Amino acid sequence: MMYQDKVFVDSCSFDSALNPENKAAHLIHNLRKQKVIDIQFVHSKEKEDRYTRMPDWVVDEALSDAREKPELLEGEEKVLLENIESLLKVHSANGVVAQDAQHIWDCHKSGIYFVTTDEVILKCRDDLMELCSVIVCLPSDFLNRLEKIIKSEFFMFSIKSEERVYTSYCGLYCRDCIPANDRMYPLVRKLKILMEELQFDKYAEAISSKNAIFGSYHIFSDMLDALESLETCDTCKRGGCNPGCFVRECAVNRNYEGCWMCSQYKSCELLEELKKLHPGIEYNIDIIKEEGLANWTRKKKKHYRWE
Ligand code: SF4
Ligand code: SF4
Repeated sequence: MMYQDKVFVDSCSFDSALNPENKAAHLIHNLRKQKVIDIQFVHSKEKEDRYTRMPDWVVDEALSDAREKPELLEGEEKVLLENIESLLKVHSANGVVAQDAQHIWDCHKSGIYFVTTDEVILKCRDDLMELCSVIVCLPSDFLNRLEKIIKSEFFMFSIKSEERVYTSYCGLYCRDCIPANDRMYPLVRKLKILMEELQFDKYAEAISSKNAIFGSYHIFSDMLDALESLETCDTCKRGGCNPGCFVRECAVNRNYEGCWMCSQYKSCELLEELKKLHPGIEYNIDIIKEEGLANWTRKKKKHYRWE
């Protein structure tokens, strides 16, 4: 871990309508995955109606980060929480700010930075700094501050070369691939544990005479194992996806960063097979060629043909 203080990130930062803050929020999330920072996602159910454009996985992560019950406060701590709430209420149209106040109090207790795009909280940022030493900032502001705090090569690498890391040789983007969907694995693991606890295999066998499909329960169980195993798939550049991929082998042998550096990509037979599943590949390669690796992803095509 390179930056020790826990960073509180409000789920509304991922609101898909808020560019470029939403992109900055995803970069912050990537830094958590790379273990550069420790994040606690927070989500206020009471303001869900105001922010409905966050991805479901953000809300799921925030809810799994949340404590079961808020701490019961007394004395000075209780007064501080009440003061935070009163401050937020001044700028809130409906006065419903209890959960936000609790999140800011939590940040005061175990962090410094509170990253949000919530207008009410942002309006109070100077007062919150004075009241409880919490630094409220936008996602992009936080990234700028963090870059100044950690001036290491590794950090610069994390921010600047995301596109380089995730763009595959063939012009796909690894983070758009189905196995890159982080929401799937906790659900699969939970289901596996439950099925084992219930000894569902024995139940399936017992009822298979009434409903033959349960006789195939072992296939379902193998499928859960197979789904879980997808989590270990690494990026294309690090040998993931297809271990024997001829496209990657060809590009590496030619010392290319990807097929966009090759004059033959429009007629390449090796790419033909891939185009059946990913018809947007040639378009992606065109865009990478035109825009460069750092800027192409905002124009990329959907990953799979059924999207
Ligand atoms: S392994 Fe091959 S098919 Fe898979 S992303 Fe890399 S280049 Fe594309
Ligand atoms: S020939 Fe060119 S376009 Fe085809 S796989 Fe090799 S590098 Fe990519």
